Parts: sequence; C-alpha cells; structure tokens
Amino acid sequence: MLLSVIVPCYNEEENVRCFYDELMRNSDFFREKKLDIEIIYVDDGSDDGTVREVKKLRESDDRVRLISFSRNFGKESAIYAGFKNSKGDYAVMMDADLQDPPSLLPEMFSYIEEGYDSVATRRVSRKGEPVIRSFFARRFYKLMNKVSKTDIVDGARDYRLMTRQVVDAILTLGEYNRFSKGIFGWVGFKTKWVEFENVERTKGETKWSFWGLFLYSLEGIIAFSTAPLAIASLLGVLFCVLAFVLIIFILVRSFFWEDPTSGWQSMVCIISLVSGVQLLCLGILGEYLSKTYLEVKNRPKYIVKEEL
Ligand code: UDP
Ligand code: MG
Repeated sequence: MLLSVIVPCYNEEENVRCFYDELMRNSDFFREKKLDIEIIYVDDGSDDGTVREVKKLRESDDRVRLISFSRNFGKESAIYAGFKNSKGDYAVMMDADLQDPPSLLPEMFSYIEEGYDSVATRRVSRKGEPVIRSFFARRFYKLMNKVSKTDIVDGARDYRLMTRQVVDAILTLGEYNRFSKGIFGWVGFKTKWVEFENVERTKGETKWSFWGLFLYSLEGIIAFSTAPLAIASLLGVLFCVLAFVLIIFILVRSFFWEDPTSGWQSMVCIISLVSGVQLLCLGILGEYLSKTYLEVKNRPKYIVKEEL
C-alpha cells in the first residue's frame, strides 16, 4: 500500500527539512503497517530556496517528489496538483509549517482501517492566533453554515487522510474557484473528525493577510452558496412593496388634502437609498458573473515548471 503525503509550500525553505524529519518520526509506524510513502512537495512558485531544499532532500531519499509551479497559483491549486499527481492508495494533505502535526497520522490511519473513507482534523482552540482573526473566522463559519447546504466545520483544517476513492471524487470537481473545505464536505463519504489543540507555526510566517482571508471567505461563500443572490431578489421585492405603498399614500394625499410634491430633501434620501441598494445588488450579481467568467475561460489551475 502506498500513502501519498501532499505538502503545499510557498516560501517554506526553513520548513521543508523540518517537515520531512517530523514525518519520518512515524517511520516505525509506516513499516509496521507495510505502508510505502511518497512525499509530494508542491512548490507554489516560491521565490526563496524551497525548490533547492526539496532537491537536496530528494538526493538522499527518492520517495521525495517535487512539483514546481511557474508562479504563485495559491494553496488551492497546489492541493489540486498534489492530488492529481498522487499515486497512493491513500493520500494525506499537510501544511509544511507543521501546524498539521504528523504525529496524528497513526491515530488517523486507525480510523481508515476501521472503515472510514476519510479522516478530517479540526483544531479545538485558536490559541496563538490574533483575537480579531479568530472572531471573524467564527462569524464566517456560522454564516457559511447558514447560507450553504454543504457542511463546513468551524476550525476544520485542510489536513485530511483519505482513500483513493475520495481523492478521485475530489478530482472530478474540476472548478477553477476552489474552496477545499467546501469541496471535502460536498463529496461526502464517511468522515471521522479528529480534534487537536492549535499548534503555532514553527518557522517562517503566515502567507495569509487579514484582507487575503477576507477575500478567500467571500470566495468560499460564492462558490458554495447562492444565498446572496436570493437576498438581492428579496431586497428588490421589499422595495417594490414599499414603493407601491408610497404611491397609494401620495395619491390619497393629493386627492383629499394638499400638494403632494413638497419635500425634495426626502426625495433625495429615497433616491440615494434605492440607488445604493441597486448598486449593491448589481455588485452581488457581478461577483457571480465574474466567477462564471473565470470558469468559462477554463484556464488551467496551475502551470508546472519542473517536476521530479
Ligand atoms: N501556501 C501555498 N500557497 C500560498 C499560500 C500558502 O502553498 O499561496 C501553503 C503554505 O506554504 C503552507 C500552507 O499553504 O504550507 C498554509 O499556509 P500558512 O501557514 O501561511 O497559512 P495559515 O496556517 O496561517 O492559515
Ligand atoms: Mg500555517
């Protein structure tokens, strides 16, 4: 049996080696289970020595593989490339920064042996993370689960062990705008959740700015929910009803009482409000349209520069 370990790396030169060493602490376990492994480092267009480090590793261990992108395509593309190039009967996705502890692997594997198709992990704490980030992350997961039918677990990591069947299922989702946490949930299968305490990054720094995460969360919502479109329609209906009521009000007033056309200030307010809402709805529509545009172009999700 072969286990593919997929490691997306973007400027992780200090972590390539550490990750390898940490993973190899499980050697006895791999031997005991007669598991061969392949470690696929997916270099996401790093501009530091990540590729050099991986090549160095490969010289001493030919189970190490490298897929190097022509530029930074994002973690989602790296995950896809890793899955696509994996040959294992099982595959596991792990961050290079050791925030997904390899020491959990034996426990995770035991669940696969029990008959689960995939073993997912979630961190139960967000210790060491900026407070504001945790706060918004929690809100995001709450909102996401309200607006999307796909189950997305709070604190879920991309760290997952799965069987070939699940990997193949994930690969059938060929969309360009990928949101892995949603895709994992969408494909279903019997999933066991393993919980662990948050581990802080050992070396290097996070690639996600607050703004980057915010945009990513919007992408997630757009990819897995059409609720914003429904909200736009609902707003439209609400304003129609309101306008109708106002028309009747003005008609009645002009028939029975005085001049209905006084008060231009209120008019300006109403026009501003309504055009604001219109632009908002147009914006929502535009978001979906732009994503559709990208999908229709059907561009490759990544371009490989070098493969070993
Ligand atoms: N990563 C990547 N491409 C990117 C950004 C990140 O392949 O554009 C990788 C990164 O090297 C790491 C993993 O994705 O292995 C998680 O990134 P990071 O630790 O920066 O995210 P965080 O843990 O802070 O959410
Ligand atoms: Mg990290």
